[in-house]
Formats: sequence, structure tokens, C-alpha cells
Amino acid sequence: MMILLQFDSKTVREPVISQTTLEKKTLINIIRASVGAREGELIIEVDDSRADEIIEFIESKGVKVTKIYEKIIKDDEKCVHCGACISICPVEVFRLEYDYRVAADSERCVRCGVCVTVCPLKALELSKI
Ligand code: SF4
Ligand code: SF4
Repeated sequence: MMILLQFDSKTVREPVISQTTLEKKTLINIIRASVGAREGELIIEVDDSRADEIIEFIESKGVKVTKIYEKIIKDDEKCVHCGACISICPVEVFRLEYDYRVAADSERCVRCGVCVTVCPLKALELSKI
């Protein structure tokens, strides 16, 4: 499961990810990070079966936690099926169908964001949560 962590000016200085890894004895995959001096956001991936206890632990450190259910969103009204997103996506979310239309399997998305920047029609966006 992917989780959005939001740090404020106090928690952004704390080693919350390290503490979680060590104390909960779990691996955490950092998908995206945007951290400044006063606030920060991380998107992490954790083991589905342990997500609730990991979230509870991180929340106990004062970090706001939101579960992410949706990933990449493709606007089929805007898409012209150019295929630019197929070659750029590192985890093969996009594929060409038999009728040359581009389809997306958003469950595979790891929210790297590169397809959003290459789509010439701005048909792709990452969900907020
Ligand atoms: S890059 Fe954009 S327009 Fe091109 S196939 Fe992908 S979603 Fe459609
Ligand atoms: S955000 Fe990254 S992983 Fe998700 S569909 Fe776009 S390129 Fe693929």
C-alpha cells in the first residue's frame, strides 16, 4: 500500500522513517520525496498486511498519514493515443491495445510522475490521495 506522509516544521526534523524501519522491523520503499526546512511530504510503500500498524506508529510520531488508493488518472477525452507515456513509464502501466488505443493499468503505478510531464495533451494526472 502507498501512503502519503505530511511533516510539519517539528516532525520534518525527526528521523521518522528510520525509527519506523528499525522499531517495526519492516522495509519501507520511498516513492517520492519533497522535503524542505519547514515541511515535507513523502510517498512511501509499505507491506499491505502491516499497513495499519505502520500507520499507527508513524502517526504516534506526529506525522499526518493518508492512505493512497488511486494512482495515475488518464483522461480518455484528452488522450490522442500517441504512445509517449508507454515508453517513459518505468513499470509498464501503459500498453497499446489491438486497436492502437493506449490503455492504462493504474494499479501498477508507483507515482514517479514522469508520464505527467511528457504527455503532450496533459491527459495524465496523479491523484492527490
Ligand atoms: S502521452 Fe498522453 S496523449 Fe499520449 S498516449 Fe499517453 S496519455 Fe495519451
Ligand atoms: S506516474 Fe510513473 S509509474 Fe505512474 S504511470 Fe506515470 S510513469 Fe508510470
